[in-house]
Parts: sequence; structure tokens; C-alpha cells
Amino acid sequence: MYSRKVVVRYTAETVEQPVIYELVKRFDLVFNILKARIFPRREGMIVLDLSGTKEHFDAAIIYLKEMGLKVEPLSKSVRQNRDRCVSCGACTAFCPTGALSFDRSTMQVYFDAEKCNGCELCVSCCPARAMEVNLL
Ligand code: SF4
Ligand code: SF4
Repeated sequence: MYSRKVVVRYTAETVEQPVIYELVKRFDLVFNILKARIFPRREGMIVLDLSGTKEHFDAAIIYLKEMGLKVEPLSKSVRQNRDRCVSCGACTAFCPTGALSFDRSTMQVYFDAEKCNGCELCVSCCPARAMEVNLL
């Protein structure tokens, strides 16, 4: 089973496309909606956790892009600002996926974008405002 989290961005022209329906019907993908901001007849964004075969997943991403939607991995929207981070470790207690971890050898906190699910808990708990999520 291949599984990836993606951010799908709509424009005003594409916001009414039946994306979820097509992903299930055409590509047999299982989905979980992690976050969505959709404004009728305006732009919008949806964060999806998609599972299925790698072949179907790749074909679905091509299909979405051909529909005029912007699609990218969720990891591209979450960022650790290392200039701000003081490696206090607070975020590691809140991060539910282990994407933020403390390395004892360097005494630094590192962010692994591949493990991130975009929950944004680290954003509110970080005293230095070092975790940034830009979904729009
Ligand atoms: S809570 Fe903020 S400052 Fe502390 S380790 Fe995490 S990202 Fe860095
Ligand atoms: S957004 Fe959630 S999963 Fe990602 S690093 Fe922050 S707390 Fe962890």
C-alpha cells in the first residue's frame, strides 16, 4: 500500500471540480481529509491523506494537474525556521507523528517533513514561533 499526504490547491475556475469523487471512482484511492478550506466560486485548499497502489496514485496526481489543480506534498507547506528555533524541545512533546525529534548528539531539534501530517500543533506550542505552516 502506497500512502502520501498532499495539498491540493484550487483556483476560482477549478473549485467546483468533484475531486474526491474522481479519486475514488477512477483511481480506487482511499482518502482521509486532514484539512480543507473551500470557498464557493473562489480559491480553496484541501489536505488529503491518499492510499492505494503507487501506479494509481501517480496517475491520480497527473489527472489532478491536468484538471488545472495545483498538487504538492504536504511537507512543502510545513517548515522549521532554524533561525528562530532554540531547540527547547517543547514541540517534540506535542508532535503526534515524531516529525520533530531531539538529537542528543547535537542537542538540536530537527524536523522530518516526511513524517509530518500538518496538524499544526507545533505552531501553537512553539515559544519562538519557529514552526511555520503556509497552506494558502
Ligand atoms: S518548540 Fe519551537 S523553538 Fe522549541 S525546539 Fe520546537 S521549533 Fe524549536
Ligand atoms: S504540523 Fe503536526 S505533525 Fe507536523 S511537525 Fe508540527 S506537530 Fe508534528
